[in-house]
Amino acid sequence: MITRRQLLGGLAVAASAPTARAAVSATSPGAFETEEILCCYAARPDFKKTSALRAPDPLALSATQAIIDLIGMRPVFHVHEADFNNGSVAFAAVRTRERHVVYDAKWFPFEEKGLGWYMVAILAHEIGHHIYGHTNGVGATRHRDELDADRFSGWAVARLGGAEEHALSFAPRLTLAATPSHPARPDRIEAYREG
Ligand SMILES: [Zn+2]
Repeated sequence: MITRRQLLGGLAVAASAPTARAAVSATSPGAFETEEILCCYAARPDFKKTSALRAPDPLALSATQAIIDLIGMRPVFHVHEADFNNGSVAFAAVRTRERHVVYDAKWFPFEEKGLGWYMVAILAHEIGHHIYGHTNGVGATRHRDELDADRFSGWAVARLGGAEEHALSFAPRLTLAATPSHPARPDRIEAYREG
């Protein structure tokens, strides 16, 4: 678990700052279409349920703010919480220039466990897709994009005071072999390390 002091020491401030609030959608964007999804971490969500998104936990917002503060970006992400309960951890989506990050409440139990490094690493991965301006794709391009997002995540965790083990804390759960959407686990671990 990360203390507020560790994560830039300014998370509590970030959560209440007007700029942080700008990253939250007041209302759900409605159901996402498959072609709007840039990346699904671990498993694809049930897209029918993406119409039931809700406002994020303040810690998710603080972590997002801390990550984009690293690169001096103004908050341009909408963060949402969802209950997919199907193994889906998080995903990134883009719709008409609006960029979204959605996480599953089961994998991000903020009230119970606080903010864990694996949560920061996954949010940073999804934010990385947005920063790179990735679009939905397949094959080799898709894999290269995933490694870029992993590398950004490793970089962000390190800048936020995390160690290599923190950046890789979710790695044992990644698919060992490559899939059409994601590279093999060893390649992804290497990218996180590079970051
Ligand atoms: Zn990804």
